[in-house]
Amino acid sequence: MYVGADYYPEHWPRNRWQTDADLMQKAGFNIVRMAEFAWVNMEPEEGRYEFGWLDEIIEILGKRGIKTILGTPTAALPPWTLRKYPEIMVQTPTGQRLTWGMRKHNCFTSGVFRLLSERITRAMAQHYKDNPNVIGWQTDNEIGGHPMCYCHSCRANFQDWLKNKYKTLAELNRAWGTHFWSQGFGDWSEIVPPDKFDEHNPHTCLDWKRFFSWLNVRFQKEQIDILRALCPNQFVTHNFMGLFSEINYYDLAEDLDFVSWDNYPVSGKPDMTNNYNAAMAADVMRGLKRRNFWIMEQTSGSHGWGTLSRNPRPGEIRKIALQQFAHGAEAQVWFPWRACTVGREQYWHGILGHDGKPGRRYQEAAQTARDLHTLDEHLKGTTVRADVAIIYDYESVWALSFQPAYDENKYHQVIGRYYQALRRAGINVDMVRPGQDLAGYKLVLAPDLYIVRDSLASQIDAYIRNGGVFLADGRFAVKDETGLCHVRTLPGLLAEALGIEIEEYEALRGGIEYQIEEHLHRAPVTRTAIHYADWIKPTTALVLAGYTDWHMQPYAALTRNQCGKGAGYYLGTIVKEPAFYDALIRELLESAKITAEITAPEGVEVSTREGAGKKVLFLVNHTEQCQTVNVPAGKCEVLRNKTTGSAIELAAYDVAVIRL
Ligand SMILES: [Zn+2]
Repeated sequence: MYVGADYYPEHWPRNRWQTDADLMQKAGFNIVRMAEFAWVNMEPEEGRYEFGWLDEIIEILGKRGIKTILGTPTAALPPWTLRKYPEIMVQTPTGQRLTWGMRKHNCFTSGVFRLLSERITRAMAQHYKDNPNVIGWQTDNEIGGHPMCYCHSCRANFQDWLKNKYKTLAELNRAWGTHFWSQGFGDWSEIVPPDKFDEHNPHTCLDWKRFFSWLNVRFQKEQIDILRALCPNQFVTHNFMGLFSEINYYDLAEDLDFVSWDNYPVSGKPDMTNNYNAAMAADVMRGLKRRNFWIMEQTSGSHGWGTLSRNPRPGEIRKIALQQFAHGAEAQVWFPWRACTVGREQYWHGILGHDGKPGRRYQEAAQTARDLHTLDEHLKGTTVRADVAIIYDYESVWALSFQPAYDENKYHQVIGRYYQALRRAGINVDMVRPGQDLAGYKLVLAPDLYIVRDSLASQIDAYIRNGGVFLADGRFAVKDETGLCHVRTLPGLLAEALGIEIEEYEALRGGIEYQIEEHLHRAPVTRTAIHYADWIKPTTALVLAGYTDWHMQPYAALTRNQCGKGAGYYLGTIVKEPAFYDALIRELLESAKITAEITAPEGVEVSTREGAGKKVLFLVNHTEQCQTVNVPAGKCEVLRNKTTGSAIELAAYDVAVIRL
């Protein structure tokens, strides 16, 4: 298994390199990522390449059994690129070029930038294609953090992209509803990229987001094509940003061998939402290519550009790392090896601090590396298998960002209410792309799935009728793929399968709360509806929760409808009490006949990996209290190399891995 650190030898004098390599070897490291921001070191002036320094450190590390992943360095532009080609900088909507000195400030339609990117990628690939210590490539860095560019070239490219998509102006005018506000276009050149997403035409905004995402994917593809042609024996990956949603990550992942991602779950005081967001992000990352992933940057210290996060507490560096393996990680790289003394990331603390002395964090990383090497044989050939899927859709995120309908409609918070309840129940979850085959899942949830093409609605309808259990909630299927509101009564094509009609809906602003009576328990429980309410009229569905306020009494809040061999659930509001979501998930799991491997106390996350005839149970204690978990007896507890009794003790932030 590959375990290591992100290393920036260009930050340190050459006489330190041997010491760093020795310390890495002693910690059990066997991989580094290098060069991702070292463009000016490799190409100090246009067309003149200097790889000697990089050859030397790759060799030093290689002699100690440490392999290298090289990053293409295109996320930070050398000053000479700007001196010679000022037009490669992003232009703001008011026509100003961004000032140089940040990173990620290039225009993606600039032919010059694309050529410079292609040349440095080709030069690196030529130089390292046969180096036995270089095993793979990372394209650029965290693609998608770029500001949008509004230069003449980007505008013209957007118009061309639209021409290619819609073919005729009449079709574009229809799809964008340009009879509103007198926006009917008479010529393609009249189309302007939108910059105020809460004021411009939402259809234009949606296509502009798609176009920007496509530009980023194309930029990466141009590098990948070079690497594939010249380096067929080295892998190509990219470091994604978990729940970042400005780029359609499914598309960005498509051309890669596997996905890697950068995990920073530590910010303020320890809380379960952060822990479960790290889990959800991991599941999203695994879902992009439906295969295991790498961690390319893992938290190893207090970090920030201006202000610091809190420090990972004793045991937490190990816990953060092992949690990702529970969700499908197969290798891990900590960021950074050593906190740099210069530049914008001086406060990003790594395994070593500024002083370079191995201390507490180094010792914990070394312990974690030993654990990961132990886990290797038990995890090989395994991945997460889930009976539950959540449909995860970038286009809905974008469209909801222009028109959330209620202020608190934050996509990951909406999904998180269900996801966290599923994790509390110890159930594995897959995050899936809209349109992906659902046949293997017993339960599918589609929270905040705002954009629903008719083909997707038909697929879900068939899924329910064939025996699947499905849940949708407020704002489901409001719009089609161009962002036009469907003319059918909501929930549109799913009305029969869900057994409801949504007659009206509203945001519950200014602190409005409705009372609901929920029937998921033996006796009715009173809950509080907040933020948003559909006025749901059941047609064939059973009412599992209804409103008690005088004007809402005819309407349902939560329904269940038997349809064919399956069942469709609909929740038309947000419920204040998290316990409601636990009860709802329990109901859904029972309905879908899904049971958890084991039950654990609150704060202990349970997940499993399986494959190649193996099944492995992870118990992750996210709390700072000692926890006792009942487990199957007589199994191998891998990290302690002990046989389990009927229960296991987990100290603060401890992790146990049991071979079932
Ligand atoms: Zn531009």
